[in-house]
Amino acid sequence: MFEVVIGLEVHVQLNTTTKLFCSCPTSFNHKQNTNTCPVCLALPGALPVLNKEVVHKSIMLGTAVDATINRTSIFDRKSYFYPDSPSAYQITQLYTPIVEHGKLEIDLENGTKKTIRINRAHIEADAGKNIHDGDVSKVDLNRAGTPLLEIVSEPDLSNGDEVVSYLKKLHSIIRYLDIGDANMQEGSFRVDVNVSIRPKGDEKLYTRVEVKNINSFKFIQKAIDVEVARQSEAWEDGIYEQEIAQETRLYDQEKNETRSMRGKEEAADYRYFPEPDLLKCLVTDAMMEKYSKIPELADEKHARFISEYGMNEYNAGVVTASVETAHFF
Ligand SMILES: [Zn+2]
Repeated sequence: MFEVVIGLEVHVQLNTTTKLFCSCPTSFNHKQNTNTCPVCLALPGALPVLNKEVVHKSIMLGTAVDATINRTSIFDRKSYFYPDSPSAYQITQLYTPIVEHGKLEIDLENGTKKTIRINRAHIEADAGKNIHDGDVSKVDLNRAGTPLLEIVSEPDLSNGDEVVSYLKKLHSIIRYLDIGDANMQEGSFRVDVNVSIRPKGDEKLYTRVEVKNINSFKFIQKAIDVEVARQSEAWEDGIYEQEIAQETRLYDQEKNETRSMRGKEEAADYRYFPEPDLLKCLVTDAMMEKYSKIPELADEKHARFISEYGMNEYNAGVVTASVETAHFF
């Protein structure tokens, strides 16, 4: 009786050598707060400079998902206070992202394909990390300023299987393009799931709940199932209006439940405005020429291995499942 409507936000950490706006290394496993400088510590007077490698990798991703690459994109300041964000704002792209209107074709269980529209992909800086240790909380800013590409889908997905299929395809693209390691456990491929339900046939979008903190494909599927069950039960019990609010919920994998983390803010709460310390980001013809020539992706390789080498569907699938295996083959 219900139809499930899901949209995804995926934060991909780009594998650049240095951070988004400074020359600090992005490598991990360093002593806390050593990969930092006046820029990523947001000391007064320090000015950000855009890392062009981030722009190049964004063009590659945009090309791979058939998107428009905006020749001019603009950075915005998203204000919020959190201990791991020393500037008390995040630099992101709200109004004019570098990548817009893309699409991804996913494979469904029944052998058919479905096109999922990608609303946008924008560049933003990651925050640091809070470490809670008994009564003490510590802040490590080594990660502050690491480049992220946030890839936002339209609400075109209708169940956990489609979500996993979409994520696997996106994951494969990032690995084949070699623009990130996309390691879910290490947090370089972070997925937020926006879930809502509606009676079958209804065109309206109801209250969407954002579920965070899910670090494997298996748990994403489970988190969607429990959240859909929670919303459907509330609807059937006639308490949907009271129970289901626009909010951010955390998935608890031990208890297999979602629970409220915070009310969902609206864009106005963040007081976005154009980042005054950065120029517009311009993509030149030369950059387009060079970075829109992307390597062969898994689907094309899969088709070519069948037509050129006479492999069967299954074997071609096994060999192209990971970029390392495909290159070795
Ligand atoms: Zn720095």
